[in-house]
Order: sequence, then C-alpha cells, then structure tokens
Amino acid sequence: MSDFLQRNLYFLALAIWGCGVAFVWPVPGGRAAERPRNVILIIGDGMGLTQLTAARFSRRKPMHFERMQVVGLVKTHSADNLITDSAAGATAFACGCKTYNHAVGVDSLGRPCRSLFEEMEARGGCTGVVVTSAVTHATPAAFLAHEAHRTRYFHIAADIVHSGVDYLVGGGLKYFVEREDGADLKDSLRWQGMKVRTFKDGPLSWSQMRRASRFAWFAAWNHPSAAETGRNWLARATTLGARFLSTCAGGQGFVLMIEGSQIDWGGHANDLHFTVREIEDLDQAIGAALDFAEADGHTLVLVTADHETGGMSIPPPSRMGHLVEAFSTNSHTATMVPLLAWGPGAAAFGGIMDNTEVHARLRRLLGW
Ligand SMILES: [Zn+2]
Repeated sequence: MSDFLQRNLYFLALAIWGCGVAFVWPVPGGRAAERPRNVILIIGDGMGLTQLTAARFSRRKPMHFERMQVVGLVKTHSADNLITDSAAGATAFACGCKTYNHAVGVDSLGRPCRSLFEEMEARGGCTGVVVTSAVTHATPAAFLAHEAHRTRYFHIAADIVHSGVDYLVGGGLKYFVEREDGADLKDSLRWQGMKVRTFKDGPLSWSQMRRASRFAWFAAWNHPSAAETGRNWLARATTLGARFLSTCAGGQGFVLMIEGSQIDWGGHANDLHFTVREIEDLDQAIGAALDFAEADGHTLVLVTADHETGGMSIPPPSRMGHLVEAFSTNSHTATMVPLLAWGPGAAAFGGIMDNTEVHARLRRLLGW
C-alpha cells in the first residue's frame, strides 16, 4: 500500500470512529497532537476579512497575520440576535455560551458563567488582558466580570478587582477612582499585591513590572487615544505581558487576551483610514505574540474577531495602495469572521465553527 493511501485510510478511520475524536494532521510548527501550555487570544473588535484585506492592500509589504498557519471561519450570532454585539461575542469566547446582546460574563438567563480566566486561575495559572479601550469595556468585561449589562462600568471595575487577573493594560482609570461609592479601587488592587502604574507615571516598561507578582498599567483616564493619533503601546504591552505571565505562571500556563478595541470604532464611523491604522496596530501585536510563541514553543496564538463592523467592502476602482472607502452600514454585521491559529494545537481551529466552539476547542486542547 502506498504511503499516500495508508495515510488517508488512517484519517478515514478516525473520521468514522466518531465525534469527539480530534481530527489531527501535521501542520509545520503547529501540530494539533501537541497541547499548548499558554494561550494568547487576540481579538480584533469588528475585524472582518475585509478589514484585514484592506490593511494588507493599503501597503506593499506582508503583514504579520500572514504568518498564521491555520485558517477557520467563525459564526458570531448571539442568543437573541443574528447580529451580535461585543458583549455577547466576547462572552461566547470567554465562557463558551451564547448569551443576549449587552451581557458580559453571564448566560442567557443572566447567571454568571465560568470563564477561561477563572478556570486558568483555579488551576494555578496566570491571566492577563491588554486592550486599547477602557478595561471596563465589553470585550475585557466578558472575561473579567459578570454583569447583566455592559454599561455597568463601575460594577465591572469592582468585578475586575475580584477577578484575580495578573496583568492588566488599558484605559478606564476613572471607573476605579472616581466612584459614587467613594472607594479607590486602585488602592484595592494594591492591597491585593498588584503593582499599579498609570499613564502619568510614564510609558509601559519592563523595569516597572520586573519585581511585581501582579501588574496593572492604566493607559488613560477613559479610552486611550487612537493609533492614528499616536497610540503605539499595544505590541510592547503584548511582548511584556507574555514575558511577565510566563514568569508569573512558573510553567502552569497562562491566558493572555489582547484586543484591538478600536477597529470597531473605525467601522462604526465608516472610516477606512481609521480602520486600517487600527488593524496595522493590532498586526504589530500579532507579530509580537508570534515572536514570543516561536521562542517559547508552548504557546498557541489565536487571532479572531467578535463580529464584523460596517459591512466593509473593497469595490472598484480600488487599486493597490489606493482603496475606495465603502461601507454598507454603521452597525455590526452577521458575516462570518476569520480565525487564524499558530502553534501547538493550531490545527484544531481549521473549519467553520460557532464562536462558542472556539472556547470548547481551547478547553479540550488545554486538557480541561
Ligand atoms: Zn461595535
């Protein structure tokens, strides 16, 4: 029997054997049979395939997301709407359940759901969040909080204090210190052994976090500025975060969620240039994550989105470097979004799946 036939009979047998059996095939540097120890989950808020394409065709050199090995597609609808919002979309990744739009870290009945972060913390690993919005915004809140509505920012800040998160970078300082209940949650974080720095203390650097067991850097009072106006710390926060969490976890594993939060805002504004600048910023973070993962060898990198925003297209007479701005809505859309994977277990993320399935496959790969 030829090698080719033998190999394909093996795969056929696996497929007939039944569901729940990992269908694995060799991918260079991304062997599905290997289990990752660490996960870097990169979410481009509102990042559809067109947003990625627009960034790529706005410039003449390859982008880091093109280094990813495995490609899948994700269905994003929520429990109550074909068109999800970021809250339900991120809760699907964090908890593995479909919930209603506006829900963060709760199921469709409003009950708190157990997140990947809580599970990693319970198993002795470490967790981190880096976002270019306030840390109380919908996507990070789905991982760090349990609230019936995404706009309960002051409650979400209190939930974050109790989340056990080990590395926190983003805006939203005001929700921690300018509170009706008079509490200074920045101090509460410090009492828990977290070293807290803000944009007033200077840029994010390794020397700030070197001797800390947990670390937070508040990048802005509310939302950080746009990449277009000079915000440039996302890649650095990714590199430093992966390094910090691998030390923190001491081999127990970590989950680091990175969000390019403002890609969505470019879509809502129907602003091609804004969108492309935010994708380029996130792409630098993707490069930083891949560089870490290549050196580390135990880290799975996933790049995906909660939904597409703007119904963006690239119509004629677009040409390389000169795209025509075209959007069909200033809201989110129901189109499937890309899922790119690199590293041990990456092959498990090929194919078409629900957003909740991304969570389920991650848990299986981690052996949970
Ligand atoms: Zn949005």
